[in-house]
Amino acid sequence: MRHSKGLTVLAAILFIGGAVMTFAKGKETMKNKECYAGKWRGDKVVKTDAEWKKELTDEQYRILRGQDTERACTGLYWNNHEKGVYHCAGCGLELFVSGTKFDSGTGWPSFFGPIFPENVASKADHSYGMDRVEVLCPRCGGHLGHVFEDGPKPTGLRYCINSAAVVFVPDEKKK
Ligand code: FE
Repeated sequence: MRHSKGLTVLAAILFIGGAVMTFAKGKETMKNKECYAGKWRGDKVVKTDAEWKKELTDEQYRILRGQDTERACTGLYWNNHEKGVYHCAGCGLELFVSGTKFDSGTGWPSFFGPIFPENVASKADHSYGMDRVEVLCPRCGGHLGHVFEDGPKPTGLRYCINSAAVVFVPDEKKK
């Protein structure tokens, strides 16, 4: 009896510890970011490599500026079902809304379309011997992920996005 009580306490400590760490990680990705609401108005954010390196976390820099990909099921948002908006982690531009997010089973946040067509850019990517279409932020040029033509209705597209390339802002925090 005493033994199982000890295990329950240990489990509770581990659970609370994990929740605190997840919260801290989420906060870390919010630093230096301002939300840019609405359609992209054509302005650009241009920074030197040194400036990006200084203001982004190591993982954000590796992905946004180095075209890297996070490992599946390791990001903050692949399993996020909250309502809200996903902003560019580089410049804050609104990119995707929760209403277009779907469970692709890939381990990466997946959307069937951007918040506005002009808020994402795309470019042919032939790296690693594959023919893919890279998705970028049109404002800061940050690498977000790739888009594939095997998505659900209504677009048939699957925007496969790195969690580290975006910052999620829940609807209730916008007021
Ligand atoms: Fe951006």
